[in-house]
This record gives sequence, structure tokens and C-alpha cells, in this order.
Amino acid sequence: IPVDPFDLVIFGGTGDLARRKILPGLFRRHCAGQIPDEAAIIGAARTQHSRSEYRSFAAEAIREFANGQPCDEGALAAFLDRLQYVAIDARGTQGWAELAGQVHPDRVRAFYFSVGPALFGDLAERIHLHGMATDDARIVVEKPFGHDLASARALNATLAAHFQEGQIYRIDHYLGKETVQNLMAIRFGNMLFEPLWNSQYVDHIQITVAETVGVGGRGEYYDKAGAMRDMVQNHLMQLLCLIAMEPPAKFDPDAVRDEKLKVIRALDPVEPHHIVRGQYEAQDGAHPSYRDAVGDPRSSTESYIALKTHVSNWRWAGTPIYLRTGKRLVARSSVINVMFKDAPHSIFGQEAGRHANVLSIRLQPNEGITLLVTIKEPGPGGMRLVDVPLDMTFAKALGPEGEDPPDAYERLIMDVIRGNQTLFMRGDEVEAAWAWTDPIIAGWKSRGEVPKPYESGSNGPGDADLLMQRDRRAWRGIK
Ligand code: NAD
Repeated sequence: IPVDPFDLVIFGGTGDLARRKILPGLFRRHCAGQIPDEAAIIGAARTQHSRSEYRSFAAEAIREFANGQPCDEGALAAFLDRLQYVAIDARGTQGWAELAGQVHPDRVRAFYFSVGPALFGDLAERIHLHGMATDDARIVVEKPFGHDLASARALNATLAAHFQEGQIYRIDHYLGKETVQNLMAIRFGNMLFEPLWNSQYVDHIQITVAETVGVGGRGEYYDKAGAMRDMVQNHLMQLLCLIAMEPPAKFDPDAVRDEKLKVIRALDPVEPHHIVRGQYEAQDGAHPSYRDAVGDPRSSTESYIALKTHVSNWRWAGTPIYLRTGKRLVARSSVINVMFKDAPHSIFGQEAGRHANVLSIRLQPNEGITLLVTIKEPGPGGMRLVDVPLDMTFAKALGPEGEDPPDAYERLIMDVIRGNQTLFMRGDEVEAAWAWTDPIIAGWKSRGEVPKPYESGSNGPGDADLLMQRDRRAWRGIK
């Protein structure tokens, strides 16, 4: 869908996120013909750069990170031509008058806050002060959105002092993934699944977000956050909402977000014995342990978490949802598995084996959806049952040959320009998620709990398997 000319200001335009995601994402949209010629993209950051220095920075970022986009030098030159740069101090006066002179009147203007959250309030205030907070203005804020309920409320109040909720786009890039949107298409566009989408037919749901990387250079931030704050409160919670929510009346931002909010509010508090926390150990001299990586030999922050929760409502009563996420695990893999119940009676007898359907929604790598269906094992060996996948790998099935699906950031930035908030978190959703998370974290603190060590490159602590085994269930493998 074409968009009108717009201005996009990237605060933190020289930072890591701008380099790896925002600028390459915009370039890919440019190559797809979605960015009108008159659009202006303005990098704004603390360092002094000339416009041509900033263009060189952007060109390098694009060459390195615009994966899959053949970097036509002509297209790159045309894109760079739209880039401006303003050296600005978020906390002071430098650069603001210049920026205000560069944005166009009567245009959609998006301000991407790709800076630490401590600067959000300063930026919002100054955008307002310099007359740039028009009705057509919108701001995009990155995670982390607070570190508990109180700080998230304070942040919401700070932004609300200068912008309406309809102008605030809180990014969770998981929501920009093609598969996540397809999850809604699968659920609400087919007759096949929705009648079965409840505790009568679904035994349980597993949501896994496994990473192979460690904390890397983010140790200082991560050690204050841990897996619960860094991953569960936002990304896994959002996936849980989309899986568990009721059908909204319309595919409209508030209708969708109202339903997600109801899910979060229906989550039971988590029992302490339904949570396993872990911390990775060193790997054969190849990788440091978590504690070495964050430089604190006594750190009790978790780099892994597995938990069991319930959505206490009519649809899901009796169907547990298991979440797990961790660093330095055996594979990089984000998958939602909807595990259906066994058929009520096997007409084929014991020796045929028993099988249940699984709907696997894979977010990365190889975004796609697979339905495991039970069929007869081919051949003359009698009636034995096997599971075969009905497979829909997007790269193969849906994308033009050789082209990667759009990156989450590309889609989300264009949604900001179009003014579509469906895939962004509303303030009350974020607060409700913290209200569920806070008591869990407070419980660990008050009980002085220390995470279990686990081997790097493994599936995480063995206790996570016990969590499932106690319920006569098992995690599906991380692969
Ligand atoms: P970064 O440290 O690489 O970059 C920070 C940017 O902010 C730089 O451009 C710097 O010049 C600018 N800046 C800092 N202080 C400033 C000031 N006073 N005035 C004006 N500009 C100032 O950070 P990053 O990794 O790009 O992350 C940016 C935000 O995005 C953070 O909130 C981070 O939590 C979030 N985020 C980053 C990633 C990622 O992959 N890097 C992923 C998710 C969320």
C-alpha cells in the first residue's frame, strides 16, 4: 500500500539498532518502492557528523545488514539522498531548532526513540516544546518499557503528558514477524481451527524462545533484567496473548488489543514450584559462564526460565501454557506448539501407537507453520500410525523465489507511517504484563532463590524437564 511523503526522525540514529535494523529495513522498503521520493529520513544523535559522514555510515550499515536485498548501487544512492543528519542533545538545547526547521509542516512525522528509556521523557518534552508534536506526529519507543509496574506507569505518564495514546507506538518486534500475523490469519481466517481452539481439544501449549548467544556486550543491562524481564514480560507474553485471545470483532488496533489485555488479566499468578530458573555455565573455554560474562561471581539473575501458567477463563480452563526461554541453548529457535489431545479412542489397537496433532508455529529460523497429522505408515506392515507434517514454510511457499520475507522492523516502521497500531503494545497491556511479572520476581527475592546452573549448548536445566514430567508431558525438542 503506497504511503504519502513523510518525515522520519531516528533519535539514536548512529546507534546499534539504527545500524542493524532501522536503516537496512528502510532501505529494503525503499527497494520495494514503498518510500515516496519526497520522504525525509533524519538521523539525530549526540555525535557531530556531517551529512555525508552520516550517509557513509548508513551505506555501510545497509551493505552489511540489508540481508537478501541485492544492493544495487543506484538504489542505494537514491536512498542515501533522502538522509539528513542533525547532531542533537536529548537533554539540552543543541540541535532542536535545526531539527524543527527540517521537518515539514502538514506531513506525517514519526519520531523513533532508538535511545535508552531514560531519554524518552526528555525527547517527548522537547518535540512538544519545539512545536513538532502535531496531530500527525507519532513516536516509536523501544523495549525495555520499564523494569516493573511502577516504572512502566511512570513512563506511560511521561509520554502521555505530550502525546495521545493513539500517537504512541511501543515496539515489540516479535509482533512484526510474518508468522505471528499469520497466526491470526490461521486462527481467524479458517473454519478448521477455531472450533478446536479450546481446552476441550487442546491438551497444552508450549512457547519456546531459545537463543544460542550469551549476554554478549549487554551484560550490564541484562544482569539487572534477566530472562523474565528481558523476554517473558514482553515477547513471550505477546505470543501467549495472540494464541489465547478471543476472536476480536474486527482486525482493528483497539479491538485486537482489548482481547490481548483480557488474556493478560486472566493469567493466574504462577506458583513458585511451577517456575525453573537457570544460569548458563562456561563452555569448554569457548564461552565464558554467565557470571563471568556479567562480571559478577555472585549474580543471581536468570539467563533461562521455564514456567507453567494458566489463562483462567471459559476457553482455557484446564489447559496449561508452558513458557521457556534462555540463552546459550542448543539451537536458536522460536516456536509455539499447540498440542492437541489424543483421539478419545484408538480403533487401531495398542500396537498401532497413539498420536496427537501438533500445530507448530515457527517464528525463527525458517518462519512457517506445520501441522502434524497422523496417517498410516506406508507399506504392507499392517496398520501402524505415523505423524507427517503438513508444511507451510513461508520462504518456499509464499515468498518470491530467493527473497527473504520482510524483516519485522520493516513492517512495523511502515505501520507507524500508515498509522496502524494493531501490532504495537498499548500502555495498559504493558502495565498488565508487569502486574503479572512483578510478584514472581518479588517472590524470588524474598525467598533468596538462586538459579540452577546449566550446561551451555544444552536444553537448559534438567528441572525444566521435570516440570513437564510431573504433568506427564514433555517439551518438544529445541531445533
Ligand atoms: P546504542 O547505545 O548503540 O545507541 C544509542 C544512541 O543514542 C546513539 O546514537 C547515541 O548517539 C544516542 N544518544 C545517547 N545519548 C544521547 C543524548 N543525550 N542525546 C542524543 N542522542 C543520544 O543503543 P542501541 O543498541 O541502538 O539501542 C537503542 C534503544 O533500542 C535502547 O532503548 C535499547 O534498549 C533498544 N533496543 C536495542 C536493540 C538492539 O538490537 N540494539 C534491540 C531491542 C531494543
